[in-house]
Amino acid sequence: MSLVLVWSDRSADHAPPAGHPERVERAHVMRAVVEAWRERGETVLPPRAATRAEIERIHAVGHVDRLAASAGHPAVLDLDTYMSPGSWEAAILAAGAVVTAVDHVLDQTPDAGTLSAAFALVRPPGHHALRDRAMGFCLLNNVAIAVAYALARGLTRIAVVDYDVHHGNGTQWAFYDDPRVLVMSAHQYPFYPQTGAAGECGVGEGEGFTVNIPISAGATDADYLLLLEHVVEPILAEFAPQLLVLDVGFDAHDQDPLAHMHLSTAGFGRIAARLRAVAETSCGGRLVLATEGGYHLDAMKDSLQATIDALAGPKVAPKASHDEAPTACGIAALELVRAAQKRYWLK
Ligand SMILES: [Zn+2]
Repeated sequence: MSLVLVWSDRSADHAPPAGHPERVERAHVMRAVVEAWRERGETVLPPRAATRAEIERIHAVGHVDRLAASAGHPAVLDLDTYMSPGSWEAAILAAGAVVTAVDHVLDQTPDAGTLSAAFALVRPPGHHALRDRAMGFCLLNNVAIAVAYALARGLTRIAVVDYDVHHGNGTQWAFYDDPRVLVMSAHQYPFYPQTGAAGECGVGEGEGFTVNIPISAGATDADYLLLLEHVVEPILAEFAPQLLVLDVGFDAHDQDPLAHMHLSTAGFGRIAARLRAVAETSCGGRLVLATEGGYHLDAMKDSLQATIDALAGPKVAPKASHDEAPTACGIAALELVRAAQKRYWLK
């Protein structure tokens, strides 16, 4: 099988207070999906913990010291970000799970046109964590740590596509001046964390290597597919990454209680199928995925399963045309991104 999952039961040891949306039950949902995968005879890799040196490529020493010092007892880090006694161990395993996924994919010798994918199912999430502080349920930036690890292994062109409903601000700032890492984020906007405008395109040598796709509340499957087809896919084809990393949140689902998008479960499957095809044609099949948000348990479970099915099943040509027409949300977002990116891409 060309897909492995990376999972640790310790991800349930991160336990924010009762009533918090990023709750332990999310780990139980992930574990059920992992168990079903195991029962099919497929591979589940245990993660190793990320090392201090790997974490400190992305985070300030003081931030890492503060988190490590909270191991074994609860701590409040910001208005909505908490640690329980098991959070530090869960966090270094979450970051390490994405590193494990990178190692797995880079250690394969892929055949042309075939997929080599590793999907790290992790808690706590990571994409809001900043260099020197925790933020938005996130302690360590799991994906950024893994991308920095892949750079240290010698890669020079890595693309991250983040389609959690919130802007992946921590990942953006980690590589904002770095042309080796193309960071693309499609998110509800304006919305938490208020960054991710189309005009945020990177600085210095990294100018042009940040692509934001801000979308008004109310977007549908057809809107996301429109933006995939006219923004994400052409830019990835031109950048030609050596590794594609998908930062996958399920909080753009229609049923999600925190956001206001209308993606369906099948829509998540179609997005994954299209990005799988990009990995197969543009990146030597090398694809790493990591989870972020998703706060309706059933919607998250079904969308996670649809994503795995799209990666694990036989290659299916995604339908070129959409079942439904895009709405004003998708059309307006496309115009906005074209205007912002025409100096760099989409010429
Ligand atoms: Zn989110």
